[in-house]
Amino acid sequence: VRRLVLILGDQLTPGLGALQDIDPQRDHLLLAEVMEEASHVPHHPQKIALIFSAMRHFAEQLREQGLQVHYVTLDDVDNSGSLPGELLRWTQQLDPAEVHLTECGDWRLEQALRHCGVPIHWHADSRFLCSREAFADWAQGRKQLRMEYFYREMRRRNGLLLNPDGTPEGGAWNFDADNRKALPCEVQPPAPLRIEPDAISREVLALVAQRFPDHYGSLEGFDYPVTAEQAERLWQHFLVRGLADFGDYQDAMADDQPFLFHSRISAALNIGLLDLRRICAEVEAAYRAGDVPLNAAEGFIRQLIGWREYVRGIYWLRMPDYAEGNAFGNSRALPAFYWTGETRMNCMRQAIGQTLRHAYAHHIQRLMLTGNFALLAGIAPKAICDWYLAVYMDAFDWVELPNTLGMVMHADGGYLGSKPYCASGQYIKRMSDHCQGCSYKVSESTGESACPFNALYWHFLMRHREPLQRNPRMGMVYRNLARMDDARQQALWDWGERLLARLDAGEML
Ligand code: SF4
Repeated sequence: VRRLVLILGDQLTPGLGALQDIDPQRDHLLLAEVMEEASHVPHHPQKIALIFSAMRHFAEQLREQGLQVHYVTLDDVDNSGSLPGELLRWTQQLDPAEVHLTECGDWRLEQALRHCGVPIHWHADSRFLCSREAFADWAQGRKQLRMEYFYREMRRRNGLLLNPDGTPEGGAWNFDADNRKALPCEVQPPAPLRIEPDAISREVLALVAQRFPDHYGSLEGFDYPVTAEQAERLWQHFLVRGLADFGDYQDAMADDQPFLFHSRISAALNIGLLDLRRICAEVEAAYRAGDVPLNAAEGFIRQLIGWREYVRGIYWLRMPDYAEGNAFGNSRALPAFYWTGETRMNCMRQAIGQTLRHAYAHHIQRLMLTGNFALLAGIAPKAICDWYLAVYMDAFDWVELPNTLGMVMHADGGYLGSKPYCASGQYIKRMSDHCQGCSYKVSESTGESACPFNALYWHFLMRHREPLQRNPRMGMVYRNLARMDDARQQALWDWGERLLARLDAGEML
């Protein structure tokens, strides 16, 4: 055997670096379903099913191309249970002259593979626009990193939404201010595209149901794409039906509307079923053809070449220390309702409920509901990061950790984002209809019927007055706090204390 190539569950892309120059006669490919990756956090069963099914489909596709593929299923009696274990086992069995691997999406796994005793030829992950090294060069010498500047650089470098003279299309780099509308009653999001599980997926769903019965989340209604062709159908569905309104309503939330105008392609993209460059080009083409407005096209492209590449860059630049960040010194355990959805707070029930049903919530639900609550309640960063990593279909460490630890929890002390995304119930009321169906009153801040977000918001601001009030972007909220008389501030503090004590006692809010 000339070469053994290990392909990971989020590397299901034919153009992958490690899959170039393959000799069908002398090279062997290896894919393995292992317990360690499926259970180091209690991943949502649909996420495990997605990855195993997509891996099995990808292995079939490679075999059809005449390549020699070894596929280790989870229930294979010889399965060692870990990727380093499988790499060692197959290296001993096949005795290849070389072992090749594309860089991982998880620092923990990459370290384990680098130290497993098998010399590896590493390939950069060319699916990203900005390599680890290019990001490190960009970050060099900057005290604070800001996504906006990185994003502009990426727009220029990749020639996206630019005028011929290199200035941004529409005269501005960012149209986020146009993208914060609540959903009016008369606007109906498109019906979601359902992709029915085929025989391979059905077999995997049965395996996952049997092997992971204790993981939170439902397997019912699994409808995610597991092949590049299916992912393309989901992408075209969004491009034609969702993108035009994505901009306006990307921050909106609504009862029983889990997807709104969101694409749901992040899981497929993150495991390699879609090509980032083509997607961006098609979004720009839709704008140039007059099919979608600029705020939608720009907002979508910013998520992909801005945020997505930026958080990956930060992850590889700052790991492993980044994972230890805890700037607010939080230590509170994650409330049990994050795993069950059993809470009287309608907004949280909606976000967590759909997460358990679909392994999906959109970015504002993650940032301003489940994330905001964890920030205000002082949840230990590791506990909330592990939860996000476990429950979301698209969560891989490189993308989940900076988003949760940095953006949601501000636990990196402001390295990634310039201010904490904290908000009271008023924000949630403005952006959703959740408060109408809630047993709490968003207009009240203290007392049994008061919205818990309100007192917790003020408690958070008082609790972390130092250093937050020195942050120029927090000036207005601290001026609002200062305008309250002492008795009001004390009442909010006391009610906040009471809510936190209830969380500590394991009581439901
Ligand atoms: Fe959420 Fe408060 Fe509104 Fe209830 S009242 S839905 S807890 S923001």
